[in-house]
Amino acid sequence: MGKVVLGVSVGVAVAACAVAALVVGRRVKSRRKWNRVVGVLKELEESCETTVGRLRQVVDAMAVEMHAGLASEGGSKLKMLLTFVDNLPSGSEKGIFYALDLGGTNFRVLRVELGGQRSDLDPDVEQQPIPEQLMTGRSEDLFDFIASSLYQFVEKGNDSVQSLVTKELGFTFSFPVKQTSVSSGVLIKWTKAFAIKDMVGKEVAGALQQALTRKGLNMRVAVLQVNDTVGTIALGHYHDEDTVAAVIIGTGTNACYWERTDAIIKCQGLLTTSGSMVVNMEWGHFWSSHLPRTSYDIELDAESPNPNDQGFEKMISGMYLGDIVRRVILRMSEESDIFGPVSSRLYMPFALRTPAMAAMHEDDSPELMEVARILKDVLDIPDIPLKARKLVVKICDVVTRRAARLAAAGIVGILKKIGRDGSGGITGGRSRSDVKMRRTAVAVEGSLYTQYTMFREYLHEALHEILGEDIARHVVINVTEDGSGIGAALLAASHSSSGSVDNIQLV
Ligand code: ADP
Ligand code: MG
Repeated sequence: MGKVVLGVSVGVAVAACAVAALVVGRRVKSRRKWNRVVGVLKELEESCETTVGRLRQVVDAMAVEMHAGLASEGGSKLKMLLTFVDNLPSGSEKGIFYALDLGGTNFRVLRVELGGQRSDLDPDVEQQPIPEQLMTGRSEDLFDFIASSLYQFVEKGNDSVQSLVTKELGFTFSFPVKQTSVSSGVLIKWTKAFAIKDMVGKEVAGALQQALTRKGLNMRVAVLQVNDTVGTIALGHYHDEDTVAAVIIGTGTNACYWERTDAIIKCQGLLTTSGSMVVNMEWGHFWSSHLPRTSYDIELDAESPNPNDQGFEKMISGMYLGDIVRRVILRMSEESDIFGPVSSRLYMPFALRTPAMAAMHEDDSPELMEVARILKDVLDIPDIPLKARKLVVKICDVVTRRAARLAAAGIVGILKKIGRDGSGGITGGRSRSDVKMRRTAVAVEGSLYTQYTMFREYLHEALHEILGEDIARHVVINVTEDGSGIGAALLAASHSSSGSVDNIQLV
C-alpha cells in the first residue's frame, strides 16, 4: 500500500516538474520571441536614424542637387522645371479673377474678387464631374464642355459674359506638360483616366482659349499652371510677401521656390522683369546616399510600379508611410507570434493607409483601444497584448519621425540654396553670426502636414535643430489651402494684361 502511495506521489511530483518545465520553457521561448521582435524594432530605429548631423548632410545634398538640376537638363534627379512665373501676387491686386482646375475626374471653376489690400479670399467654387466619354474622345469636345461650364458659372455669378473687359483666367492643368511660357505648354502625355489622342503634343492653353472664343466668352488664359506647388507659393506670397518657397506634403510631396534667373544656368539669357522665376523642383525624385534607408524602403520600392524613382517621396509622403509600417508589422508577425497567426491582410500592399496609421500613433487612451480597434478592423489582428500595441505605436513613431525630419531637411536645403539658412549660401564662407537673417516664409499645404499633428511637430522640431534657434526664429511656416485653385486665380491677377490696375468695373 505504502509503495503504491509512494509511487503515486512520485508520479505527481514528476508530472508537476514536467508542467513547470513546460511553463518555464514556454516563457523562455516567448521571451526569446519577444526579444526577436524588440530586435526588429531596434534595427528599424537604427536604420531610420536622423541625427542632426545626418540631416545636415541631406540639406547639403539637396542644395547641391538643386544646383546640378539648374546647371543642365538631366544634370540631377531634381528636374528643376521652369514655370515662367516671374511675379507673385502681392496682395494689391484688384478685380475679379477666375481659375479652372483640371486634374482628375472632376474639374473645378473658381472666382475670387480681390479688393487690393491683401483682402480675405472667399472664392466661389463649383465642382463638376467630367463625363466619362469626354475623357477619351476628341479634345475639342472636352474643351467645349469646359468652356460651356465656365460660361454658365460666369453668368450665374452676375458677371457679364460678353463684357468688353477681358476676364483673366488661371488654368491649372495637372498633367505632364512641357511649359513654353507662363501661359502655354505642350501636353507630353495623359495620365489618370484621360486618353485623348489628338491632344498629345498640342498646346494646352491654346486649345482652351479657342474653345472660350468659340463660346463667345471674353476671357484670356493668363496663366497655365501645371503644378499645384506654384499655386501654393502664389497663395502664400499673397498673404505673406516674405514667402520664398512652397511645399506640398499630402498623398505625394513636391516643392517649388523663387530663384534668380541668373542661377538658372541651363537656360541662358532668360530675362524676366523681376529677375527671378518660380522653379518647380519635383523634389519627390530627390535621392542621396545620406538618406537613411531601411530594408522596408527597398522592398517597397522594388514592388512599386516605379522602382528607383521618387525615392524621397517614398520616405515622406502620405501615400507610403502606412505601407512602411505594414511591412514592419509583417516582419515582426513572421518572426514571432506576438500578433497571433500571421494575418493575410498583412501581405496586402497598402492595406494600412496613412490616416489609420496616424490614428494609432496618436491614440492617447491608456489601454490603446484605438490601436486595438484598427489592428482588428484594418489588419485583422485581434486581441494582442498591450505591450504589442505599444510596439505598434512605436513603429508608427519611428516611421513618421523620419519622414517629417527629412521633409524639414529638404526645406532647409532650399533655404540654403537661396542663402536663407543663415550660412551665407551654398558657397558658404561667412559664419552664421555674421549673417543678418531676413524673415523667411515657406507656404505649406497638404493633409499629412495639416492633419497629422505628430508629423507637423517633428517637422518643426527638426527645422529648429538644423537651423539653430537664432536662425529658426526668422523662418515661418504658413499653412495655405487650395493653392491649386485659388493660387491659379491669384496668378491670373498678377499676370493679367492690366497688371494690378483696377478692373473692378467688371462687376
Ligand atoms: P492630395 O495630396 O491627394 O492632393 P491631401 O493634401 O488632402 O490631398 O493629402 C491627402 C493625403 O494625406 C492622404 O492620402 C493621406 O496619406 C494623408 N492624410 C490625410 N488625412 C490624414 C490624417 N488624418 N493623418 C495622416 N495622414 C493623413
Ligand atoms: Mg493636393
